[in-house]
Amino acid sequence: MRYGEAGFNLEIDLSRGNVERVETDPKLTELHLGGLGTNAKILWDRVPADVDPFSPDSRLIFSAGLLCGTPAPGANRTILTTYSPQTLLMAYSMMGGFWAPELKYAGYDKVILRGKSPNLVYIWIHNDKVELRDASHLRGKGAVETQELIRQELKEPNAQVAAIGLAGENRVYTASIEQGRSSASRLGMGAVMGDKGVKAIAVRGTKDINLARPAEFLGLCNDVLKYIKFRNENPVPNVMTILQGLGSPQEMLHVDEKWHTENFSWGNSRARRKDFWTKEVEEKWKETQENARKRLISCYNCPMKCGAIISLPGMSTYMMKCFSKLTYTMAAFVDSLDFGFRIAQRATEYGVDGFSTPQIMAFAFELKDAGILTDEDFAGCPSDNEGRFYWLLDRIVRREGIGDVLANGTHWAAQQIGKGAEAYAHNNIKKHEQLPLKLGMLNPVYFLMYATGEKINITQIEGQFPQSPFATMEEREDFIKDWIQVPDEKFKQIVLDWEMRGERSNPYYPTPEMSCDIVDWQEKMHYIDDALGVCAGLSSFPLKPPYHIHNYPHFISAATGIDVDEAGLTRVYKRNRTLVRSINVRRGLRRADEVPPEDHWRKRFPELEAKLLDEYYKFKGWDNQGIPTKEALQELDLGYVAEDLEQRGIIKNEQD
Ligand code: SF4
Repeated sequence: MRYGEAGFNLEIDLSRGNVERVETDPKLTELHLGGLGTNAKILWDRVPADVDPFSPDSRLIFSAGLLCGTPAPGANRTILTTYSPQTLLMAYSMMGGFWAPELKYAGYDKVILRGKSPNLVYIWIHNDKVELRDASHLRGKGAVETQELIRQELKEPNAQVAAIGLAGENRVYTASIEQGRSSASRLGMGAVMGDKGVKAIAVRGTKDINLARPAEFLGLCNDVLKYIKFRNENPVPNVMTILQGLGSPQEMLHVDEKWHTENFSWGNSRARRKDFWTKEVEEKWKETQENARKRLISCYNCPMKCGAIISLPGMSTYMMKCFSKLTYTMAAFVDSLDFGFRIAQRATEYGVDGFSTPQIMAFAFELKDAGILTDEDFAGCPSDNEGRFYWLLDRIVRREGIGDVLANGTHWAAQQIGKGAEAYAHNNIKKHEQLPLKLGMLNPVYFLMYATGEKINITQIEGQFPQSPFATMEEREDFIKDWIQVPDEKFKQIVLDWEMRGERSNPYYPTPEMSCDIVDWQEKMHYIDDALGVCAGLSSFPLKPPYHIHNYPHFISAATGIDVDEAGLTRVYKRNRTLVRSINVRRGLRRADEVPPEDHWRKRFPELEAKLLDEYYKFKGWDNQGIPTKEALQELDLGYVAEDLEQRGIIKNEQD
């Protein structure tokens, strides 16, 4: 009997319309857990290294995490994996909501798509019955609208449906996959799904997931629930509001946007508006948000309520959470929050990433102001800020005119446009748009996370360790006194010693060695979450979460029966991290790609930055190009990876 996992994947060849239920190898669960770990293994084993993201040979994998479908609170993440059309590297994006547990209840851990369907289809998974159904009547329908239409058609109100909108159908590189209460937005998952000719995957399951030691597991779950209650009643003091609690930043609850509106950049990630947040704006935005927000909502089996149902007159309802209420507003330099809520509804139906897409539009208008794009490119575009953003969004998702160029993201659009447009695509790492943040002093920990992160999305890498030093010793001592989540006491000392000014301040403190330790801890927690399917909002993202390195091994053992301790779990993390790195190294990733935007910090320190990268690579067992060494790979049971990289001349030639 398999515990914790279903033990079967659904493998679907879309070109042939062939569906197989394939038993998985339990040894792979021990080596990689599930979710991201086993997705990476499949990508390495089965997809040619030089595959085009839109090739029928590429894969799009929907995976439930290992703990999804168990009673573990917040274990509801679907981990999607493919090659990104934007970065050309491995892409993995998470989706909360209800889809992954439903897949487990239908009896599967993953859905693996290969080939391309000749006609637009949707996939209907109902326990053992799996069908590819015609979706031609859904062509052009919104991503949220499609979910409801499919539920009605199937007469299954409880089916969980992940769908793309027009952007995915048109292979817009920032297309998302939407799922009612969440979305997989980053790195073009929706574009690959559209390319494969799949409009949606609907799933309904009524089976059970077995637990190895149910009573022990439920005891652990109760401890987590108790801790969530405690933390909600006792927010972490002396840090900004959105970092005080748990979950995704509670943007739908709070209206205080002084920090975001004054610290994040407006337009094409250029301008700060330091005096934007006034009493008048606060009152207006509060009224707008309270009118738009119908109720706060949760993902599957989670007591937090990070999302909200948004409804405004004249438009259908949709779900919103996190910073996305501000992305369009700030990109367009619009002072009204109402615009943000309204355009986000259209963007959600189209199915586009709310972080990259607004920046792409602001980039286009900057090019127009600079005379690089012309009036002809914008023929018919209204002149007001709000109108022109709606106009351009419509063009991008339809790939019409200049929208066709912009649909590939700022990096590729700039290359195609030429005439100096590259300088305006200034906020990218590895060809992908980053958060619109422009800061003063370089923070060594954030430098490393930005530069080396393979998820290429800072909010999905950071967490656990404070973003900046505490002002007073009293505050530091207060912070560390109940910091049970630390993997090692040395992190407490770093917090105690970290000053706002002087010798022990950024950029030289934390030292490169300490910075590597801190980044490694943060990466470790995110990689474990992404394998288990636990929401980062309850583990790797908050400063003091209920899940941490000390209790995770107990959860895994009690759920699956796999005997694992902290050291063993750390080893699995290292294996998964190194495998993801190797996949990207095989695709050509090198040190020269690991560069945060030049203008991300005003003060830069080239020598220190080089040393940080050197130390980080050394810490990981990689060479100075960021390529894992043969010894490091063998040590992590990845000898087959070393062999492959050696055969390609990547290890031998470059490490010599
Ligand atoms: S913490 Fe928030 S985002 Fe995470 S599972 Fe719970 S409700 Fe969803």
